[in-house]
Amino acid sequence: MLSTMQEFPLAIGTVMRYGVEVFGDVEVVTWEGDGARRRTYAEVGERAARLAGALRQLGVDGDQRVATFMWNNVEHLEAYLAVPSMGAVLHTLNLRLFPDQLVYIANHAEDYVVIVDGSLIPLLAGVLPQLKTVRHVVVVGEGDTAPLEGAGKELHQYEELLAGAPAVFEWPEVDERSAAATCYTSGTTGNPKGVVYSHRSAYLHSMAMCTGNAMGLSASDRVLPVVPMFHANAWGMPYAAVMAGAALVMPDRYLQAEPLARLIEAERPTVAGAVPTIWADLLRYTKEHGADLSSLRLVPCGGSAVPEALMRGFDEIGVRIVQAWGMTETSPVATVAHPPVTATGEEEWRARISQGRILAGLEMRVVGDGDVVLPNDGEAVGEVEIRGPWITASYYLDEDPGKFHDGWLRTGDVGTLSPRGFLTLTDRAKDVIKSGGEWISSVELENHLMAHPDIVEAAVVGVPDDRWQERPLASVVVRDGASVTPERLREFLSGRIAKWQLPERWAFIPEVPKTSVGKFDKKVLRRRYADGELEVRRVE
Ligand code: ADP
Repeated sequence: MLSTMQEFPLAIGTVMRYGVEVFGDVEVVTWEGDGARRRTYAEVGERAARLAGALRQLGVDGDQRVATFMWNNVEHLEAYLAVPSMGAVLHTLNLRLFPDQLVYIANHAEDYVVIVDGSLIPLLAGVLPQLKTVRHVVVVGEGDTAPLEGAGKELHQYEELLAGAPAVFEWPEVDERSAAATCYTSGTTGNPKGVVYSHRSAYLHSMAMCTGNAMGLSASDRVLPVVPMFHANAWGMPYAAVMAGAALVMPDRYLQAEPLARLIEAERPTVAGAVPTIWADLLRYTKEHGADLSSLRLVPCGGSAVPEALMRGFDEIGVRIVQAWGMTETSPVATVAHPPVTATGEEEWRARISQGRILAGLEMRVVGDGDVVLPNDGEAVGEVEIRGPWITASYYLDEDPGKFHDGWLRTGDVGTLSPRGFLTLTDRAKDVIKSGGEWISSVELENHLMAHPDIVEAAVVGVPDDRWQERPLASVVVRDGASVTPERLREFLSGRIAKWQLPERWAFIPEVPKTSVGKFDKKVLRRRYADGELEVRRVE
């Protein structure tokens, strides 16, 4: 064997120490509704050291879990840096989960400390007595702590803890394969499952985010993660920003269109990531009231299929949306839809509405019935499987062999892969509509419907049908003041999709129900239909 390079660990602590020193003067902005708090990376670095010291004093040792129950703000970033760098494991709790899921997750991960935003005390207080392993609650900022009392936990003020801890911390050298952070899937079926990120996976994912085929982050950027830091690590943007020396603009709890527009105008981010529903709201707001979004050079969007109409709407105001695909299990970003440089017109759009091209370092394939690997010809439809250094190898204390196949993760997503590495999803395996033995893509139908000028949102689910086993039910949200009929919508769809795919069942609803991470909650729609709660109009 030839002797090779140093075995220097790929660790979050390395990213932190580099970022807070080399880019010590770069700022982290936290929005407060009518203004902002500002801290430099150098200050964040010192505060992370104090936080690590304080957590040590509270007894955090080894790979103990330190949970956060926080919005996107600078203190959350401090925890993102301090907890893994001290060797402990950061557990970002999704504050939008149902209380019993939250209790399940915190107990399953055996969280020892919870750091909570003052504004979220009422939410945490409801579940705190049931969090069996939690000993300490650390409150960030203002907030009445009375509701947290009586749960048998020790309460602390974040700023007091930091003030009482030394400004330097002896950061340990960690094994790059050791756990750095954990995040639970949102559990659309059954209990949520824990995905544990290693230092190495977080480091490599951050580097990938800095490449041009992903987000191309650099020290010229100001990054606005709208996607919550409790949802798949805000798509890895916080760590990648520290690595790139990009400024961070944190929205805290101001996620509605109007404050977001104000924040973008005031802080001029260059890159901003969020799910489609957030951007759709912002686009509507901008069209009605006007907003200057010109600072944005790139808007990564994903989490669910990005409607073409949304991308075109943003194109019209000079803002570029780029679709990305991934899941909690994939750290999360795995594909990004930058079209090939040579592509124009239709071809360019085909690439843009795909889920994107696989990033360097990962491998993907589609698998059909009987686990047969299908060709990457852009035609063969099957379940997508993926492997690579930032793809989970297992779920924490929850064996689920059905999710893995010869070292590949079965994603539960169904689609095609082109010879040039572009993934196009037609559905999630559980949302595919099987009509008379043929597949209908709910995503495709939704995309076409949402391109109608009077449709705000559209969700399509399969419902039982005597003749065809299953048929699509289209639930649509109509723009205020507009009037459309199922007949007109069918007319609009014909020519865009095959005739046999046209839905005959239509429901007009005020809003599509959403999951804790802002995706269409099709489970709820199916249940409402089954319970006869939806007023369904039938047109043949
Ligand atoms: P959960 O699986 O619990 O909803 P995740 O946030 O991990 O939580 O979701 C991952 C899933 O989101 C993917 O498997 C895929 O179905 C969907 N998804 C993510 N990005 C896209 C995209 N660009 N287009 C279509 N679906 C997407």
